[in-house]
Amino acid sequence: MHDATQKVLDHVIQLDPNQPEFIQAVTSFMNSVDSLVEEVPQIVYHKVLDRMVEPERVIMFRVPWFDDDGQVQINRGFRVQMNSAIGPYKGGLRFHPSVNLSILKFLAFEQTFKNSLTGLAMGGGKGGSDFNPKGKSDGEVMRFCQSFMTELSRHIGEDTDVPAGDMGVGGREIGYMYGQYKRLQNKSVGILTGKGPSFGGSFIRPEATGYGLVYLAAAMLEAENKSLYGKDCLVSGSGNVAQYTVEKLLHMGAKVLTMSDSSGVIIDPSGIDEKKLAFVKTLKNVRRGRMAEYAQQFKEATYLPHNGSSSTNPLWDVKAEYAFPCATQNEINELDAKNLIANGIKLVAEGSNMPTTLEADHVLMDSGILLAPGKASNAGGVAVSGLEMAQNSQRLQWTPEQVDQQLQQIMKNIYKNISSVAEKYSTKNNFVDGANIAGFLKVSDAMIAQGYV
Ligand code: NDP
Repeated sequence: MHDATQKVLDHVIQLDPNQPEFIQAVTSFMNSVDSLVEEVPQIVYHKVLDRMVEPERVIMFRVPWFDDDGQVQINRGFRVQMNSAIGPYKGGLRFHPSVNLSILKFLAFEQTFKNSLTGLAMGGGKGGSDFNPKGKSDGEVMRFCQSFMTELSRHIGEDTDVPAGDMGVGGREIGYMYGQYKRLQNKSVGILTGKGPSFGGSFIRPEATGYGLVYLAAAMLEAENKSLYGKDCLVSGSGNVAQYTVEKLLHMGAKVLTMSDSSGVIIDPSGIDEKKLAFVKTLKNVRRGRMAEYAQQFKEATYLPHNGSSSTNPLWDVKAEYAFPCATQNEINELDAKNLIANGIKLVAEGSNMPTTLEADHVLMDSGILLAPGKASNAGGVAVSGLEMAQNSQRLQWTPEQVDQQLQQIMKNIYKNISSVAEKYSTKNNFVDGANIAGFLKVSDAMIAQGYV
């Protein structure tokens, strides 16, 4: 790594040694953009990298709420407003007990470049809380969301910062938060995306991340004269992204062998078809149950609970052609990556953000398989969020077909952009470098043009 890049990375490590996820995201990014330090010297002169790793603003706040027993509970709320060079901050809210500043800074950093790749005018942000919606009643979730929004409402706005959903934040939570914002501000404006279609939401927003992921994978395969049709696929997770990834893979004629949740993995050699997927949707979205029930319902499937002491995930040790991690960060470690390669995987398309550890990344990249980084491959969600903002500004609602067509076009454009940038600045089919560099070039250009702010 060049001295200039290494210095920025060293500074991040020195400043926040206890933020491992953020350091990991910055390290991976710096490895890609390092080659630009000589080609585009103004990024050093204007201290673009130094500024990019420092959020424009971090807001942290107390969220008090009443549980069903009338007891006051306290959680921590955050919003990281990372970079507004190309538009209002945009990025999801995550409700999960693991949420902390390191995770949100990594997500906000990634989001900045992802949003730039969509071609829409959106800056990068991310937020959330260590609140765990699992096992909470509807009333508790509503009271928490209202309290969270009571504080967050001061810091967001349709031209300032427009949050959306992420892990633990789906249509229900967005609805409760939107209702509270409206009550506080007396304004019906698009301050959140992922809203219900009856109050300003865009059609295809729930589907967008999973559908977009499959569209991007299909574009990558098409360039190699391959397709998804008839191919065995592995999907992890069973939340929003996983469900719609499976749905679109089925539309494309692929066979999906696996899904999972935080308790365990199901492996179904006969394939997860439309009927079984409908079962998963009801299980996870309505009953909020566990994937173990899948194997009770469909006897041909095997359920393997996560084993805390195991160093590998059995989901990544199944013979297949293509893999779609859609659960959470660092879900594929070095050994898992080696298992994927040994089992004949030819493409990994990331639905979750940063699903691979740095070591796993190296294994996958060195193996020569196609690797679609989350910044590019899961950008469909935020892209349709951008389209939701456009619809809200116009006070119009586009049809599902119109939105889906735009989503397909955006994912094709992302593929073209990252592959041509990879060829120009790195090597053919190095989509990790392609995505990092393409995202970076646009954001840095805007930052330089706007002076030292
Ligand atoms: P959901 O909360 O809807 O689903 C997350 C899924 O991952 C659940 O099945 C959950 O299981 C599982 N999971 C969570 N932690 C673990 C773990 N440690 N091991 C195994 N499984 C786990 O979230 P989303 O589907 O929205 O998000 C999934 C990923 O996609 C995240 O990385 C998110 O940042 C990323 N993403 C999401 C976008 C969106 O539009 N929603 C957009 C772009 C990226 P359980 O049910 O037990 O909690």
